[in-house]
Amino acid sequence: MKVTSLDQLLQQELQDLYDAEKQLVRALPKMAKAASSEELREAITEHLEVTKGQVERIEQVFEALGAKAKSRPCAAMKGLISEGQEVTEEDAPEALKDLAVIGAAQRVEHYEMAGYGTARAMAERLGNKEAARLLQETLDEEKEADQKLTELADSLLQSVETTEAAPARKGSTARRAGGA
Ligand code: FE
Ligand code: FE
Ligand code: FE
Ligand code: ZN
Repeated sequence: MKVTSLDQLLQQELQDLYDAEKQLVRALPKMAKAASSEELREAITEHLEVTKGQVERIEQVFEALGAKAKSRPCAAMKGLISEGQEVTEEDAPEALKDLAVIGAAQRVEHYEMAGYGTARAMAERLGNKEAARLLQETLDEEKEADQKLTELADSLLQSVETTEAAPARKGSTARRAGGA
């Protein structure tokens, strides 16, 4: 398809996000199931409900643009979801598995944040305040989900044993500085 205007490009971005969100509605229940921590399961399940709302909100954005709601396969989301499934199917202690689930989920959130940020900026440039407002609303929800996941990861990271839990030995500071 030939894109000749910003308006068309925005529609394309939205078609991608529309498909991405619909893929997530199908994938998030599986992700929640893979989580052991109840808090993590709840966070994912809550975001599933939010995601269903986001699918409808994209339809409102199409409407605000006077365009038909259409989706176009988002290959990136497909990949993120399948990678997520791969890592969470690996055999690991609960906390590590949960950390893997969080890593997968945050990749998804960041992809969405990039997509919505891009689309919102385009809607703004087009002077479509309603579309921009709706896209910002979803962007805020994705950021909130990402933040929640960071908090959960932080507390899980505190709970896991590390093989280098012993007091710092000579050289470890340098190694850490170099490795960070
Ligand atoms: Fe989303
Ligand atoms: Fe995409
Ligand atoms: Fe990868
Ligand atoms: Zn999301």
